[in-house]
Amino acid sequence: MSVNIAVLGAGVVGLSTAINVQQSIPSARVTVIADKFFEDTTSYGAGGMFIPSRLASPNVPVDDLRNWCRESWKFYRQLALSPEAGDIGTMIMSGYHLINKPLSAEDPLYQEFVFNSQEMSRSELNDLGFQQFRTGYRVTTVIIYMRKYLTWLQKRFEQNGGMFEKRHVNSIGELSEQYDVVMNCCGPGSGRLVSDTRTHPTRGHIVRVRAPWIKHWFLTDGETYIIPGEDLVGLGTVRQVGNTSLDVDPRDTKNIIEGCEKLCPNVKGAQVDHEWVGLRPGRDRIRLEPEVCHFGNKRLPVVHNYGHSSQGIGLSWGTAVYAAKLAAEILSSKSGSKL
Ligand SMILES: Cc1cc2nc3c(=O)[nH]c(=O)nc-3n(C[C@H](O)[C@H](O)[C@H](O)COP(=O)(O)OP(=O)(O)OC[C@H]3O[C@@H](n4cnc5c(N)ncnc54)[C@H](O)[C@@H]3O)c2cc1C
Repeated sequence: MSVNIAVLGAGVVGLSTAINVQQSIPSARVTVIADKFFEDTTSYGAGGMFIPSRLASPNVPVDDLRNWCRESWKFYRQLALSPEAGDIGTMIMSGYHLINKPLSAEDPLYQEFVFNSQEMSRSELNDLGFQQFRTGYRVTTVIIYMRKYLTWLQKRFEQNGGMFEKRHVNSIGELSEQYDVVMNCCGPGSGRLVSDTRTHPTRGHIVRVRAPWIKHWFLTDGETYIIPGEDLVGLGTVRQVGNTSLDVDPRDTKNIIEGCEKLCPNVKGAQVDHEWVGLRPGRDRIRLEPEVCHFGNKRLPVVHNYGHSSQGIGLSWGTAVYAAKLAAEILSSKSGSKL
């Protein structure tokens, strides 16, 4: 007998989770339900770097974080090296990670995973005009061009027999009659959906400019970064906790451009193509866990997978692998078995 699984959320976390559920539970009928798709999600406009850090997820047990990173990197690495990389939107790119704050004991966490990571010498930092930084790393990683990647994920899900439904869900209980398991991947919407007071949307802003001469990324441990995409270069950012406005604030635009020009004077004069504002799904720690909910006399297993904050692109595939395992365990356990 086939089971019905709803994946709530069509951002990178929802789509990755949906595909992993299809792989882990081949008999499942999987439906992605969301009120926003593609360009209306946070995932669409993100910088798309795989550069996981311990500092950005301080409360996750480090072994879990490493496991998620390992699964994600295995996947992105293989995509970026594949002949389809151009269609998928995965680019191998080198850049500089520039640091002033003290590093946590496990950082740079990405060192274990990326293609290459080496600490820079003082003379190298000085030569590049980065003398204001305490240290820096030369890193080769994968940058994901989100428009292409989300399209590729959507197609892959549909080709595997997946279905989409556009709808706002006020309570997970609305799904209890129709579905055997619900995967909650609502990102910044999860706080309201499941009354989770530990979430905190964190506003971000990227100014996308035409600067085809910039072929490296530059990431600081402050708010400033420069991330080339396929056609435009993204200048970032702000981290405004609790501000949920999706409007461009010209004061932020000015600060972002000035910060990037200071970091990298060769950005100066680049023409602005467009600006984008999104809400990072902040939480004190990523929530990746099962819960059994009761709605009247109906028992509904839910797997939560949200709260990825500023690391949701990098960690999406890895957390999706583990979320799908949890769903498979629920269904194969005695009480939930329908397989
Ligand atoms: C400026 C900026 C730059 C970033 N750069 C990077 C980066 O370089 N690397 C990185 O790893 N991360 C980056 N991030 C973080 C990353 O974008 C997020 O962590 C990630 O996109 C979260 O994905 P998600 O699928 O959880 O959420 P979203 O993409 O927001 O998707 C949430 C989905 O849930 C649905 N939903 C919510 N509530 C409901 C409801 N009640 N009913 C129905 N549907 C609902 C929405 O419709 C949507 O489909 C950046 C973020 C910002 C803002």
